[in-house]
Amino acid sequence: MNFLKKIFNKQTIVKSTLTITSSNGFHLRPIAKFANEAKKFSCVVTIIAFDEEVSATQVPKIISLSLEKGENFTLKCVGTDANEASAHLTTFFEELMENDREVETMVQTDERYQAPTLNGVSVVPGIAIAPLVYCKAVENIESQKSLSINDSVELVKKELEELYHKNQANSEADIYLAHKELLSSDIFQQNFKDVESLKETITKEMESLKGTKFESRMADYKDIQQQILTHVGITTTLKLPDTPYILLIDDLLPSDVPKLANSPIQGVVLKQGTPTSHASILLRSFAIPTVIIHDSIEETTEAILDTSSGNLVIAPTELDREKAHTKLKAFQKKKAQNYKNRFESTETLRGKRVKVLANIGDVESAKEAKELGADGIGLLRSEFLFMERKPTLEEQTNAYREIFELFDELNIRTLDVGGDKPLPYAHIEKEQNPFLGIRGIRFSLLEKTLLEEQLLAIFKAVEATDTRNKTMKIMFPMVNNCDEFIEAKKIAIDIANTYEIDLSAVEFGIMLEVPSVIFALHEFDQLVDFYSIGTNDLTQYLFAIERTHPSLQADALSPMVMNALKLIIETTKKPISICGELAGLGAATETLVNLGYDTLSVSAKLIPSLKERIRNV
Ligand code: PEP
Ligand code: MG
Repeated sequence: MNFLKKIFNKQTIVKSTLTITSSNGFHLRPIAKFANEAKKFSCVVTIIAFDEEVSATQVPKIISLSLEKGENFTLKCVGTDANEASAHLTTFFEELMENDREVETMVQTDERYQAPTLNGVSVVPGIAIAPLVYCKAVENIESQKSLSINDSVELVKKELEELYHKNQANSEADIYLAHKELLSSDIFQQNFKDVESLKETITKEMESLKGTKFESRMADYKDIQQQILTHVGITTTLKLPDTPYILLIDDLLPSDVPKLANSPIQGVVLKQGTPTSHASILLRSFAIPTVIIHDSIEETTEAILDTSSGNLVIAPTELDREKAHTKLKAFQKKKAQNYKNRFESTETLRGKRVKVLANIGDVESAKEAKELGADGIGLLRSEFLFMERKPTLEEQTNAYREIFELFDELNIRTLDVGGDKPLPYAHIEKEQNPFLGIRGIRFSLLEKTLLEEQLLAIFKAVEATDTRNKTMKIMFPMVNNCDEFIEAKKIAIDIANTYEIDLSAVEFGIMLEVPSVIFALHEFDQLVDFYSIGTNDLTQYLFAIERTHPSLQADALSPMVMNALKLIIETTKKPISICGELAGLGAATETLVNLGYDTLSVSAKLIPSLKERIRNV
């Protein structure tokens, strides 16, 4: 009885009046965020408007109030934490309204057009106003080239391998690797007697994909065919306009995309393909507004491509043109604003700070990351300094020092070779399943001299740098049990002792990319200073689907991955970041931040837009 009395006495009632300031009204998205926020308090929160009182945690009830711009409601909080809830929810609501005004600019311009409009699937956001030009690939025969088909296959494989290594830090890398893997498949091991037999084989493969969920991979086969034929002496060219244009094309090959980016292209209308095809991935990385429309379309002297609604407006009216220009300006303004704000600190609507770091491969990419607003380096894929030849101790030291001087935080991953990254001068026995073999720390613990020299180079870089406010974080890749970490760290400590290196600015952690670690986090917490989650490998090992497999693809956004990330962050007490591709995916930002991840590391180009997305969570 006394207990109840105590609680009853502690009940506080706080009321405040809030006004809808967004001309979108209090609509679904802000309502959902508000309700979610209200649930975090133990007091009872209600909304009173038009003589009706509804629970602030019940979205449909709030919607039924139909609160419009300029209207008020009373926020009522009853309970022990009413004061705190009222203050927090008031600020939260005001921020929601403020933020909703920004969205409004985009929504406002998203109106219907007067002229005939075709609708399709948006692939890359943006808007373009230009002539719609149909382009077809034209085959040219160059007689002086005379490589056999089989030699051409080998040459293309080699070229793709090189492209893959060169682009490791970028999203394109996986495409080159996928093509190389396709070329390594059995169908290309036969003896091709002429061009026709090659084309026949490839067509047969493509036909078998029709109507399956891998249909979008047909373009990859065409691309490979074209690359092989180029070495045989048959080149295919796209004749592109030299004045601004929107490209209308049946299907695009991934290798065509960089060529487009060098022309005055404004947008792309694909008649075939899918948003997840490799050409689409590349179009995204070059930020070329793109839509897929299957209807029959003719060339036209002027068109509007408005991908926010998947629209292609043929022969626009004056009013359409005006609308499109306004929208284009708003879009460009947003992009410029993201870029302008790239150095601003990144906080969510509720004031939670999120660090945005960069994934890099060398000194050049570190400089680019600095320019694009990186708060530090979350992943230096150090193996790319080692790929062509072994760098000297001095070369390594200089590279690490230069990067460390640019940032306060540098996460260096020690050599991660093996798997899809063979080291030409290190001997690794050919394995049946290289991704399950001598990779990462397993390799380094076998070939200790490379690891020892690398650690010494890192320590020398630390020694040569003014480390006040700086942290050098060394992380070991592919660790799957505590002993591996203990052994690797011991090697480091022994080197530091031998060379009398002060390690006060150095931390030791692991890449969390093998699922076994998730089930030993309590033990790892006793040993490591931090974790960085490599979602690329973690996803591959969770689903047992090789990350470079040409046709199988694990879903990086699957709830199973999210559940793993939830379990990790709820279990560990150590600092944790994410440096796999997932960290840069627009569709994942809100979930990751809400799960509690406050450090995301992505490729440099994604930094300004990721920061902006975080500011709106
Ligand atoms: C990862 O596995 O997610 C990761 C960041 O490492 P890498 O892609 O270099 O294997
Ligand atoms: Mg990895």
